Amino acid sequence: MNRNQKEQYLQTRWQIEYERRDVAQSIQDLFPKCKEVKLEIKLSFVSAFGKNEKEINATLNPCDKLYWHHDCLNKDCTGFGFSLTNEIRTAIQTRQTIEGKLNCDGKEDWKYINNTGCSCNSSCHYKIIPLF
Ligand SMILES: [Zn+2]
Repeated sequence: MNRNQKEQYLQTRWQIEYERRDVAQSIQDLFPKCKEVKLEIKLSFVSAFGKNEKEINATLNPCDKLYWHHDCLNKDCTGFGFSLTNEIRTAIQTRQTIEGKLNCDGKEDWKYINNTGCSCNSSCHYKIIPLF
């Protein structure tokens, strides 16, 4: 993969995420009874150079879009990052707290893009608490 291909790939990735956000509906449109959704998120990336972690506590209000995405903490990652939009929807639909872990879908670096191994060792722990 040369530099141009990589740029194009990144541009497409950005475009897809932009459109997903653009078409997302607000929480109040989809679930009028939901008062808010609390998100407790811990991202982590472990590599040969050490461990990088980031905690995010966020609240989605009824007027916010039902959408959540965060890039992988590994800046060389080839993946899409983490999306919790479906998980948030399920939490509101079932009115239950949902906890889980997503693993990154990318490779650790662009030089491994065509390899079968070398997956990005990054993850996202989440707790989604819908309030009514
Ligand atoms: Zn990654």
